[in-house]
Amino acid sequence: MKVYLTFDIEVWCDGWESLDERFPASFERYVYGRSKRGQYALPKTLEILDRHGLKGVFFVEPLFAGRFGIEHLAIIVEMIQAAGHDVQLHLHPEWTDEIRPLLFPGANRKRQHLSYYTLDEQIVLLNYGRDLLARAGCDRITAFRAGSFACNSDTYRALRHCGIILDSSLNAVHPDSGVDLRGMLDFHHPQQLEGVSIFPMTVFRDGLGKLRPAQVGACSAAELREALESAADNGIQHFVVLSHNFEMLKQGRCEPDGIVVRRFEELCAFLAGNPDKFEVSKFSPAPMIGIESGQKNMAHAGMAATLRRHGEQLARRLFG
Ligand SMILES: [Zn+2]
Repeated sequence: MKVYLTFDIEVWCDGWESLDERFPASFERYVYGRSKRGQYALPKTLEILDRHGLKGVFFVEPLFAGRFGIEHLAIIVEMIQAAGHDVQLHLHPEWTDEIRPLLFPGANRKRQHLSYYTLDEQIVLLNYGRDLLARAGCDRITAFRAGSFACNSDTYRALRHCGIILDSSLNAVHPDSGVDLRGMLDFHHPQQLEGVSIFPMTVFRDGLGKLRPAQVGACSAAELREALESAADNGIQHFVVLSHNFEMLKQGRCEPDGIVVRRFEELCAFLAGNPDKFEVSKFSPAPMIGIESGQKNMAHAGMAATLRRHGEQLARRLFG
Protein backbone atom coordinates (compact mmCIF):
# COMPACT_ATOMS: atom_id res chain seq x y z
CA MET A 1 0.00 0.00 0.00
CA LYS A 2 1.25 3.46 -0.85
CA VAL A 3 1.11 5.97 2.00
CA TYR A 4 1.25 9.69 1.34
CA LEU A 5 2.36 11.91 4.20
CA THR A 6 0.82 15.21 3.11
CA PHE A 7 1.35 18.56 4.82
CA ASP A 8 -0.61 21.73 4.12
CA ILE A 9 1.81 24.61 4.58
CA GLU A 10 0.21 27.96 5.28
CA VAL A 11 0.81 31.25 7.05
CA TRP A 12 -1.95 33.08 8.89
CA CYS A 13 -1.99 36.41 10.68
CA ASP A 14 -4.84 35.29 12.95
CA GLY A 15 -7.20 37.99 11.67
CA TRP A 16 -7.32 40.42 8.77
CA GLU A 17 -6.57 43.64 10.65
CA SER A 18 -3.09 45.20 10.95
CA LEU A 19 -1.64 42.57 8.66
CA ASP A 20 1.68 44.33 8.19
CA GLU A 21 2.30 44.56 11.92
CA ARG A 22 1.28 40.98 12.52
CA PHE A 23 3.01 39.30 9.61
CA PRO A 24 6.63 39.07 10.86
CA ALA A 25 5.68 37.27 14.09
CA SER A 26 3.15 35.11 12.24
CA PHE A 27 5.70 34.05 9.67
CA GLU A 28 8.17 33.19 12.45
CA ARG A 29 5.62 31.03 14.23
CA TYR A 30 4.08 29.27 11.22
CA VAL A 31 7.35 28.63 9.40
CA TYR A 32 9.86 28.09 12.22
CA GLY A 33 7.90 27.79 15.47
CA ARG A 34 10.99 28.60 17.56
CA SER A 35 10.93 27.63 21.22
CA LYS A 36 13.50 26.77 23.89
CA ARG A 37 13.09 23.14 22.89
CA GLY A 38 13.58 23.63 19.15
CA GLN A 39 11.83 24.80 16.00
CA TYR A 40 8.65 22.77 15.93
CA ALA A 41 7.03 24.07 12.75
CA LEU A 42 8.66 23.19 9.41
CA PRO A 43 12.22 22.48 10.66
CA LYS A 44 11.14 19.78 13.14
CA THR A 45 8.72 18.26 10.62
CA LEU A 46 11.53 17.96 8.09
CA GLU A 47 13.97 16.68 10.71
CA ILE A 48 11.66 13.87 11.85
CA LEU A 49 10.92 12.78 8.27
CA ASP A 50 14.60 12.84 7.45
CA ARG A 51 15.56 10.88 10.54
CA HIS A 52 13.20 8.10 9.44
CA GLY A 53 14.20 8.31 5.78
CA LEU A 54 10.67 9.29 4.68
CA LYS A 55 9.57 11.72 1.97
CA GLY A 56 6.45 13.88 2.21
CA VAL A 57 4.13 15.85 -0.05
CA PHE A 58 4.02 19.53 0.94
CA PHE A 59 1.03 21.45 -0.37
CA VAL A 60 2.31 25.01 -0.05
CA GLU A 61 -0.12 27.96 0.11
CA PRO A 62 1.45 30.77 -1.99
CA LEU A 63 -1.27 33.47 -2.09
CA PHE A 64 -0.03 35.11 1.12
CA ALA A 65 3.12 35.97 -0.86
CA GLY A 66 1.00 37.99 -3.27
CA ARG A 67 0.48 40.30 -0.30
CA PHE A 68 3.83 40.13 1.52
CA GLY A 69 6.41 39.29 -1.13
CA ILE A 70 7.88 36.32 -2.92
CA GLU A 71 10.98 36.19 -0.72
CA HIS A 72 8.93 34.75 2.15
CA LEU A 73 7.52 31.99 -0.02
CA ALA A 74 11.01 31.28 -1.36
CA ILE A 75 12.24 30.51 2.17
CA ILE A 76 9.53 27.87 2.58
CA VAL A 77 10.07 26.31 -0.85
CA GLU A 78 13.84 26.19 -0.37
CA MET A 79 13.57 24.45 3.02
CA ILE A 80 11.26 21.75 1.65
CA GLN A 81 13.04 21.16 -1.63
CA ALA A 82 16.48 21.09 0.00
CA ALA A 83 15.26 18.11 2.03
CA GLY A 84 14.11 16.30 -1.15
CA HIS A 85 10.35 16.50 -0.62
CA ASP A 86 7.53 17.19 -3.05
CA VAL A 87 6.31 20.83 -3.25
CA GLN A 88 2.77 21.08 -4.60
CA LEU A 89 0.02 23.71 -4.70
CA HIS A 90 -2.43 24.58 -1.92
CA LEU A 91 -4.75 27.59 -2.23
CA HIS A 92 -6.50 29.55 0.49
CA PRO A 93 -8.47 32.12 -1.52
CA GLU A 94 -9.13 34.06 1.70
CA TRP A 95 -5.96 35.93 0.63
CA THR A 96 -7.32 36.92 -2.79
CA ASP A 97 -8.69 40.35 -1.79
CA GLU A 98 -5.38 41.24 -0.08
CA ILE A 99 -3.37 40.90 -3.31
CA ARG A 100 -2.52 44.04 -5.33
CA PRO A 101 -3.18 44.66 -8.11
CA LEU A 102 -6.50 42.78 -7.93
CA LEU A 103 -6.40 39.58 -9.95
CA PHE A 104 -9.88 39.99 -11.48
CA PRO A 105 -12.96 42.20 -11.10
CA GLY A 106 -14.77 41.02 -7.98
CA ALA A 107 -11.55 39.97 -6.25
CA ASN A 108 -12.05 42.84 -3.81
CA ARG A 109 -14.46 41.00 -1.53
CA LYS A 110 -13.28 38.28 0.80
CA ARG A 111 -14.54 34.86 -0.23
CA GLN A 112 -13.17 31.99 1.79
CA HIS A 113 -13.66 28.88 -0.27
CA LEU A 114 -12.46 28.07 -3.77
CA SER A 115 -15.96 26.78 -4.51
CA TYR A 116 -17.24 30.37 -4.10
CA TYR A 117 -15.32 31.40 -7.23
CA THR A 118 -16.37 30.97 -10.86
CA LEU A 119 -14.54 28.58 -13.14
CA ASP A 120 -12.65 31.46 -14.78
CA GLU A 121 -11.71 32.89 -11.38
CA GLN A 122 -10.49 29.49 -10.17
CA ILE A 123 -8.30 29.23 -13.28
CA VAL A 124 -6.80 32.66 -12.54
CA LEU A 125 -6.12 31.68 -8.92
CA LEU A 126 -4.52 28.34 -9.87
CA ASN A 127 -2.29 29.96 -12.48
CA TYR A 128 -1.36 32.80 -10.16
CA GLY A 129 -0.54 30.43 -7.28
CA ARG A 130 1.52 28.23 -9.55
CA ASP A 131 3.35 31.28 -10.90
CA LEU A 132 4.17 32.44 -7.37
CA LEU A 133 5.63 29.02 -6.57
CA ALA A 134 7.65 29.07 -9.79
CA ARG A 135 9.07 32.48 -8.90
CA ALA A 136 9.86 31.09 -5.43
CA GLY A 137 11.87 28.22 -6.92
CA CYS A 138 9.42 25.41 -7.75
CA ASP A 139 8.26 25.21 -11.36
CA ARG A 140 7.07 21.59 -11.36
CA ILE A 141 3.56 21.75 -9.88
CA THR A 142 1.53 18.67 -10.77
CA ALA A 143 -0.74 18.24 -7.74
CA PHE A 144 -3.24 20.37 -5.86
CA ARG A 145 -5.26 20.56 -2.66
CA ALA A 146 -7.95 23.20 -2.07
CA GLY A 147 -7.83 25.08 1.24
CA SER A 148 -10.37 23.63 3.69
CA PHE A 149 -10.84 20.84 1.09
CA ALA A 150 -13.38 23.23 -0.49
CA CYS A 151 -13.22 22.09 -4.11
CA ASN A 152 -16.24 21.79 -6.39
CA SER A 153 -16.84 20.41 -9.88
CA ASP A 154 -15.44 23.61 -11.45
CA THR A 155 -12.17 22.99 -9.59
CA TYR A 156 -11.57 19.85 -11.66
CA ARG A 157 -12.34 21.71 -14.89
CA ALA A 158 -9.91 24.42 -13.79
CA LEU A 159 -7.22 21.86 -12.91
CA ARG A 160 -7.59 20.21 -16.31
CA HIS A 161 -7.37 23.62 -17.98
CA CYS A 162 -4.15 24.36 -16.08
CA GLY A 163 -2.62 20.94 -16.75
CA ILE A 164 -2.52 19.95 -13.07
CA ILE A 165 -3.04 16.19 -13.18
CA LEU A 166 -3.54 15.18 -9.55
CA ASP A 167 -5.81 16.40 -6.78
CA SER A 168 -6.19 15.59 -3.11
CA SER A 169 -9.07 17.92 -2.17
CA LEU A 170 -11.83 15.44 -1.39
CA ASN A 171 -12.53 14.86 2.30
CA ALA A 172 -15.65 12.84 3.10
CA VAL A 173 -15.97 14.25 6.61
CA HIS A 174 -15.37 17.92 5.78
CA PRO A 175 -18.72 19.64 5.08
CA ASP A 176 -17.22 22.15 2.61
CA SER A 177 -15.50 19.51 0.49
CA GLY A 178 -16.93 18.77 -2.96
CA VAL A 179 -20.36 20.18 -2.13
CA ASP A 180 -21.74 19.65 -5.65
CA LEU A 181 -19.95 16.31 -6.06
CA ARG A 182 -21.63 14.46 -3.20
CA GLY A 183 -23.41 11.39 -4.47
CA MET A 184 -21.60 11.68 -7.77
CA LEU A 185 -18.03 10.85 -6.78
CA ASP A 186 -16.64 8.22 -4.45
CA PHE A 187 -15.10 10.25 -1.62
CA HIS A 188 -13.16 7.27 -0.30
CA HIS A 189 -11.16 5.84 -3.20
CA PRO A 190 -8.93 7.18 -5.97
CA GLN A 191 -10.62 7.92 -9.27
CA GLN A 192 -10.46 10.25 -12.26
CA LEU A 193 -12.57 13.30 -13.08
CA GLU A 194 -11.94 15.68 -15.98
CA GLY A 195 -8.71 13.79 -16.59
CA VAL A 196 -7.49 14.59 -13.07
CA SER A 197 -6.49 11.74 -10.74
CA ILE A 198 -8.16 12.25 -7.38
CA PHE A 199 -6.63 10.84 -4.19
CA PRO A 200 -9.11 11.63 -1.39
CA MET A 201 -8.02 12.23 2.17
CA THR A 202 -8.22 8.86 3.95
CA VAL A 203 -11.08 8.55 6.41
CA PHE A 204 -11.36 5.59 8.77
CA ARG A 205 -13.92 4.28 11.23
CA ASP A 206 -12.75 4.84 14.80
CA GLY A 207 -13.33 2.58 17.79
CA LEU A 208 -16.64 4.28 18.53
CA GLY A 209 -17.88 3.79 14.96
CA LYS A 210 -17.39 7.40 13.89
CA LEU A 211 -15.68 8.49 10.69
CA ARG A 212 -12.37 10.17 11.31
CA PRO A 213 -9.85 11.77 8.93
CA ALA A 214 -6.32 10.33 9.10
CA GLN A 215 -4.85 13.53 10.46
CA VAL A 216 -1.85 13.53 12.78
CA GLY A 217 -3.32 16.19 15.06
CA ALA A 218 -6.71 14.48 15.25
CA CYS A 219 -5.92 10.80 15.89
CA SER A 220 -3.94 8.84 18.44
CA ALA A 221 -0.82 7.11 17.16
CA ALA A 222 -2.54 3.78 17.81
CA GLU A 223 -5.53 4.83 15.70
CA LEU A 224 -3.28 5.79 12.79
CA ARG A 225 -1.33 2.53 13.15
CA GLU A 226 -4.44 0.37 13.25
CA ALA A 227 -6.11 2.30 10.41
CA LEU A 228 -3.00 1.78 8.27
CA GLU A 229 -2.81 -1.91 9.08
CA SER A 230 -6.50 -2.53 8.45
CA ALA A 231 -6.37 -0.58 5.16
CA ALA A 232 -3.46 -2.70 3.97
CA ASP A 233 -5.23 -5.90 5.09
CA ASN A 234 -8.39 -4.80 3.21
CA GLY A 235 -6.53 -4.39 -0.06
CA ILE A 236 -6.65 -0.60 -0.05
CA GLN A 237 -3.82 0.68 -2.24
CA HIS A 238 -3.54 4.36 -1.34
CA PHE A 239 -3.64 5.95 2.12
CA VAL A 240 -3.47 9.76 2.45
CA VAL A 241 -2.39 11.18 5.82
CA LEU A 242 -2.79 14.90 6.60
CA SER A 243 -0.82 17.26 8.78
CA HIS A 244 0.09 20.97 8.76
CA ASN A 245 3.19 23.04 9.40
CA PHE A 246 1.74 24.16 12.75
CA GLU A 247 0.27 20.88 14.01
CA MET A 248 3.12 20.14 16.44
CA LEU A 249 2.68 23.56 18.07
CA LYS A 250 0.30 24.36 20.90
CA GLN A 251 -2.60 26.49 19.72
CA GLY A 252 -1.61 30.14 19.23
CA ARG A 253 1.86 29.61 20.72
CA CYS A 254 5.36 28.55 19.72
CA GLU A 255 5.59 25.80 22.34
CA PRO A 256 5.67 22.20 21.09
CA ASP A 257 2.59 20.08 21.77
CA GLY A 258 4.27 16.97 23.19
CA ILE A 259 1.30 14.74 22.41
CA VAL A 260 1.29 15.54 18.70
CA VAL A 261 5.09 15.44 18.49
CA ARG A 262 5.07 11.91 19.95
CA ARG A 263 2.29 10.84 17.57
CA PHE A 264 4.16 12.05 14.55
CA GLU A 265 7.38 10.40 15.76
CA GLU A 266 5.52 7.14 16.36
CA LEU A 267 3.80 7.26 12.98
CA CYS A 268 7.09 7.84 11.15
CA ALA A 269 8.87 5.11 13.14
CA PHE A 270 6.02 2.68 12.37
CA LEU A 271 6.07 3.42 8.64
CA ALA A 272 9.86 3.33 8.45
CA GLY A 273 9.88 0.04 10.36
CA ASN A 274 7.48 -1.69 7.94
CA PRO A 275 8.73 -0.83 4.46
CA ASP A 276 7.54 -4.14 3.02
CA LYS A 277 3.96 -3.26 3.94
CA PHE A 278 3.89 0.54 3.53
CA GLU A 279 5.54 2.39 0.68
CA VAL A 280 5.73 6.04 1.70
CA SER A 281 5.41 7.89 -1.60
CA LYS A 282 5.18 11.30 -3.24
CA PHE A 283 2.56 12.59 -5.68
CA SER A 284 5.24 13.24 -8.28
CA PRO A 285 5.44 11.21 -10.44
CA ALA A 286 1.67 10.72 -10.21
CA PRO A 287 0.82 7.26 -8.81
CA MET A 288 -1.29 4.89 -10.91
CA ILE A 289 -4.85 4.20 -9.83
CA GLY A 290 -5.54 0.47 -9.84
CA ILE A 291 -8.66 -1.55 -9.12
CA GLU A 292 -9.02 -1.87 -5.37
CA SER A 293 -10.32 -5.04 -3.82
CA GLY A 294 -12.41 -5.09 -0.68
CA GLN A 295 -13.63 -1.53 -1.20
CA LYS A 296 -16.47 -2.05 1.22
CA ASN A 297 -14.09 -2.62 4.10
CA MET A 298 -13.08 0.79 5.28
CA ALA A 299 -9.93 1.28 7.32
CA HIS A 300 -10.72 1.11 11.02
CA ALA A 301 -9.23 1.42 14.48
CA GLY A 302 -10.16 -0.36 17.70
CA MET A 303 -11.79 0.93 20.86
CA ALA A 304 -8.58 1.10 22.92
CA ALA A 305 -6.85 3.19 20.23
CA THR A 306 -9.74 5.66 20.15
CA LEU A 307 -10.02 5.82 23.92
CA ARG A 308 -6.34 6.68 24.00
CA ARG A 309 -7.09 9.72 21.81
CA HIS A 310 -9.88 10.76 24.17
CA GLY A 311 -7.43 10.43 27.06
CA GLU A 312 -4.90 12.59 25.23
CA GLN A 313 -7.53 15.23 24.51
CA LEU A 314 -8.54 15.27 28.17
CA ALA A 315 -4.90 15.59 29.24
CA ARG A 316 -4.48 18.52 26.88
CA ARG A 317 -7.52 20.28 28.32
CA LEU A 318 -6.38 19.72 31.88
CA PHE A 319 -2.67 20.40 31.54
CA GLY A 320 -2.52 22.68 28.45
ZN1 LIG B 1 -5.03 24.77 4.27
